[in-house]
Amino acid sequence: MTQSPKPSQLKQNHLQQIIEMQAALVSGDFALDAFMTDVVERVQTFTSATGAVVELVEGDEMVYRAASGSVSTYVGLRLKMATSLSGNCVRSGQVTLFEDTANDPRVDAAACKKVSAASMVVVPLSRKNQVVGVLKVISNQAYAFNEHDVYTLQLLAGLLGGALGQQIEMHDQQQLEEKLRHMAQNDSLTGLPNRALFYDRLAHAIARSSRSDKLLALMYMDIDHFKAVNDTYGHAVGDALLQQFAERVRKVVRESDTFARLGGDEFTLITENLRNKQEAVHIATKIIESVRPEFVLEGQKIKVSTSIGVALSSGKGIQSDEFICQADEALYEVKKAGRDSFRFAHS
Ligand code: GH3
Ligand code: MG
Repeated sequence: MTQSPKPSQLKQNHLQQIIEMQAALVSGDFALDAFMTDVVERVQTFTSATGAVVELVEGDEMVYRAASGSVSTYVGLRLKMATSLSGNCVRSGQVTLFEDTANDPRVDAAACKKVSAASMVVVPLSRKNQVVGVLKVISNQAYAFNEHDVYTLQLLAGLLGGALGQQIEMHDQQQLEEKLRHMAQNDSLTGLPNRALFYDRLAHAIARSSRSDKLLALMYMDIDHFKAVNDTYGHAVGDALLQQFAERVRKVVRESDTFARLGGDEFTLITENLRNKQEAVHIATKIIESVRPEFVLEGQKIKVSTSIGVALSSGKGIQSDEFICQADEALYEVKKAGRDSFRFAHS
């Protein structure tokens, strides 16, 4: 069923609210999920709906992105587009009114009963002639929606669809960019910053430190005899150990520190604003002790230790590469001296 919007049939305050919503959309200054929630909540006040939902197309599924009233707990629900009513509406691009779902062959009466949808209106949300989702309004009473409600919803969907579609695209684009950025800067096994992000953070930390009167520490750590874990228990257990090792160390360092995985079993920690060398001793000791208790990996109890080379600097007159070299050389000396310990670099 398709209707032409007839603004004259709209209640003045509804029109006002729709205009306000569109103004908010155009300003772009809002959080998308909160905005969609506002839309579904307002729709309930425009009509005699007991629930409303914005469902958006994601691949071959319809996703409940915002919901209110009787369906408010369904946010996040995914339904196959091919078999859902909303999917039908997306394909046809038509507003559809279901006046009495208990006696309508087009709907699954049992499913409607479950969500107390005795009557329903499904309105497509279009952007550039493409349907990006639907606004679905339901009531626990049959024949709850009249032509007037359908006009209101159509107008609302028509005004919001394009702008909402644009915001969704921007939101999805931002999420994609964030995901790509995370992939470029983080290690996929542990989620820690990777070598590239570590270098970037170190350069900034050196610059910051050179302007302060505090010390900067770089700790270069490497798991002792890690190859033996791989050789004895297999690569998957080795991977699980790297993950749990990362987790343990992350828990004993500060949020503001940069704890990174450079590759293999090599990790680094950049920690700023130290008042003295003793603070670096304290941190290195905490890390070493956090690693010593046995790990339980795929039912196997495994004990390992770690060695740490520590370089300290005021940040003045030092380059990243030189600083890393100092920490790496100190690590080499710990390994030579028997492992499971830390040592300061000769600076
Ligand atoms: P050392 O005490 O001297 O550090 O001895 P080690 O056995 O730990 O030797 P080393 O640090 O040189 O070896 C690291 C090993 O880590 C080599 C490589 O086979 C293994 N490795 C590198 N990347 C991965 C990974 O992503 N997963 C797993 N499971 N193993 C890895
Ligand atoms: Mg090692």
